Amino acid sequence: MFEPPEPISARTRFCAVLGQPIKHSASPAMQNAGIAALGLDWRYLAFEVRPSDLNGAILGAQAMHFIGLNLTVPHKLLALELVDMLDESARTWGAVNTIRFEGREGEQAWRPLREFSDAPLEIRSHGFNTDADAIVQGIAEDLDLELRGARVLVLGAGGAGRTAALKLASAGVRELFLINRTPSKAQAVADEIRQLWPAVKVSLDYPTSKIDLVLNATSLGLKREDPSPLDPSRFSLQETAAVYDMIYRPAETTLLKRARQAGCRAANGLSMLLHQGARALEIWSGQPAPIAAMREALWQNVNNA
Ligand code: NAP
Repeated sequence: MFEPPEPISARTRFCAVLGQPIKHSASPAMQNAGIAALGLDWRYLAFEVRPSDLNGAILGAQAMHFIGLNLTVPHKLLALELVDMLDESARTWGAVNTIRFEGREGEQAWRPLREFSDAPLEIRSHGFNTDADAIVQGIAEDLDLELRGARVLVLGAGGAGRTAALKLASAGVRELFLINRTPSKAQAVADEIRQLWPAVKVSLDYPTSKIDLVLNATSLGLKREDPSPLDPSRFSLQETAAVYDMIYRPAETTLLKRARQAGCRAANGLSMLLHQGARALEIWSGQPAPIAAMREALWQNVNNA
């Protein structure tokens, strides 16, 4: 049964997401539902922070003994240089979307700040990446797709497109087709993949035969009037079995609508948002995330907004 959270008191601890813009974020709704379901006396806030203020904002949250932070556009790369310590996930995927604050007394081991009721002598910031795993979890869950051996067209080579392409390569896809408005960025991602996963075939062009998945990782579709991220003269949606659009607001982009009309399995980016957030809450709390409560709050927030 749902227990309302305790009223905010001097003991309440905080987490937050930092980004610019931030007002559209569904993370507070999702994370506060998760925090309440775990029975924690925490709250999750959202702050608009300029890139030039990111260091100050992280240090401020650290000084106020926040439990942790999420970072969203445009901070994920910048944070690599700002945190005190990088988890393997952040090093592997080259971006930080989750920070856990940790403390220690003297020579003791570092422990998550949630374990201290009084501020420890030393505090550090520890950066993680929970986006990469969330992409493949979201795709597998929503589209019932076996990524090993799959042929995938990735649209976009910005932060999310790069992480997605690298993660798909590590998940054992057979072939990747990378398309980006700025071709040099797709080329750079292709070079990285060829070096790290030489068994994966990478092309910088549209596929010419049937594929398993189109993944939209561009920001085209966020606005109703946006053109399609796919060039219809180069690739038809009839040629793919499934489409995953990382955009979740609007819940159905024109790409997803056309994909459904073409008979494809289709899903938006809500499941990716859910899984990156669930993993972040696990990193902060040390407990399994209450996925059902978080999913329900996220769906309500996005579909009723
Ligand atoms: P980003 O680093 O700013 O990259 C934006 C991408 O979109 C780049 O590939 C960019 O191409 C392309 N693009 C932008 N405007 C374009 C236009 N007019 N025509 C063609 N291409 C255009 O942003 P990001 O962090 O990768 O995010 C990309 C998308 O993924 C966004 O829609 C974001 O909302 C979504 N996302 C969703 C989740 C989730 O949890 N569901 C998580 C992260 C991101 P250029 O390289 O040529 O600029």
